[in-house]
Amino acid sequence: MSTTTLTEFPSHNPATGEVIGTYRNASVEDVNAAVARAHASSRAWQALGFAGRKKVLVAWDAVISKRLSEITELVALETGKPLSDASLEISLAIGHLDWAAKNAARYLSPVTRNPGLIMANMKARVERAPYGVVGVIGPWNYPVFTPMGSIAYSLAAGNTVVFKPSEYTPGVGEWLGATFAEVAPFPDIFQVITGLGATGQALTNAAVDKIAFTGSTRTAKKVAAAAADRMIPTVLECGGKDPVIVDSDANIKKAAEYALWLAMSNAGQTCIGAERVYVHHAVADEFIREIGDMAKEIHPGVNKNYGPATMPSQLNVIQSHIDDAAAKGAKFLIGGTDSVQPPFVQPTIMLDVPEDSLAITEETFGPTLTINRVQNMDEAVALANATRYGLGASVWSKRNGEKIASQLVTGMVSINSVIGFAGVATVPFGGVKDSGYGRIHGPEGLHEFTYLRSVVSERFALPFAFTTFKRTKFADKFLTSVIKFLH
Ligand code: NAD
Repeated sequence: MSTTTLTEFPSHNPATGEVIGTYRNASVEDVNAAVARAHASSRAWQALGFAGRKKVLVAWDAVISKRLSEITELVALETGKPLSDASLEISLAIGHLDWAAKNAARYLSPVTRNPGLIMANMKARVERAPYGVVGVIGPWNYPVFTPMGSIAYSLAAGNTVVFKPSEYTPGVGEWLGATFAEVAPFPDIFQVITGLGATGQALTNAAVDKIAFTGSTRTAKKVAAAAADRMIPTVLECGGKDPVIVDSDANIKKAAEYALWLAMSNAGQTCIGAERVYVHHAVADEFIREIGDMAKEIHPGVNKNYGPATMPSQLNVIQSHIDDAAAKGAKFLIGGTDSVQPPFVQPTIMLDVPEDSLAITEETFGPTLTINRVQNMDEAVALANATRYGLGASVWSKRNGEKIASQLVTGMVSINSVIGFAGVATVPFGGVKDSGYGRIHGPEGLHEFTYLRSVVSERFALPFAFTTFKRTKFADKFLTSVIKFLH
């Protein structure tokens, strides 16, 4: 199937395979035209100032909230996730949109800086200026929550945005664009262009001033390479292989309950989902018994605990990870090599999985979990860190949570809870290593979509000047004496 010749592409219900919509496969020309329009509206959007933009974004927030059931149904239809999960996702996104709208002025307004004694005749401040046009490229697993972290924060900072949603969730993307248009004071502030991967590539090559990408590490590297060619900055939110660390003093029942949810919910298609557990040997049997009992009650299906794999090709990846673990000697607590039953995957928990198995080294992105016993928390930390990913983690311990968390090479950690960092609007979201760089959410998420401009102006003239060819010997002497005195 050539992506260059298609003018349209279908969107499917992943549970049935049924076509539920047809969308424009935007061409390079379409993308360039959208970016040109976004540039044209940029100045007016910036001129609205923080207060004007806040009004628009809060109004958009209200429209989304009012029509929550409509977008919830659309997300559930295109991704296959249960309605309650879709509703939770959108509620979190609404919270972020509101926070970004209401806090941009506080975190992005100019700040004055002390010019220092030698430059005391100067006035100094640091401004944060929007980049101009931000290209946002999104994935399908959380088609509202994930791109909203870039869209809301970019817009609040004063950028116009061109958004390319995943080809698996184009309807959700168009819905976001259409609802924004209802509250927009003028066109082309936030545009949505649908298309396949080539459309995303065209957006990276277009005249955007920054790219905010969320998706796989493999695609992120292509985006980063294209951006490097144009010397434009990127924020890259990629995959993960998040560990759950359970210490001997943890609340085992709660750790098992939450780890199970973190691994299986959304059919395991969560970048910050649990994929590996490292449990202290003293409590391992209890943890395994608890999680095994609870897992028996979890079932995939339409509006059951979780839905189908949204992207059919992921089923092959999941199968290969399960087969590889089995071949290397892993035992199955629940599920087995027959867990993949397209389009669903049964909950699968593997025990004593060799650390060189694909289920440990690669992102599985399915409802699977590995559980390995460790002698102590030093071993747990070492194994948790022995991965090319570094997105999130969850630590369970009554006494040592903070200590363990501080040793993890990850962008985010929850202690005695899971994914708290995604819901708290004031903390940044993002990873290290192959999980990407840059941050969305919180003050840092607003900063991400601005560049710094230092402005220094003269408050009063000194009797002698230094930055001129007319500098006198007296000025040189004066400067040397002051420096010697000060240092
Ligand atoms: P993907 O990389 O296949 O696609 C992501 C987006 O990139 C899509 O819109 C796609 O059309 C576009 N794209 C494809 N080729 C492109 C190219 N050459 N240039 C530019 N854009 C291109 O990822 P996916 O399967 O949609 O998403 C799943 C991945 O996303 C998982 O790895 C998951 O962990 C990750 N993810 C990360 C976060 C996070 O915040 N860190 C959040 C959600 C998902």
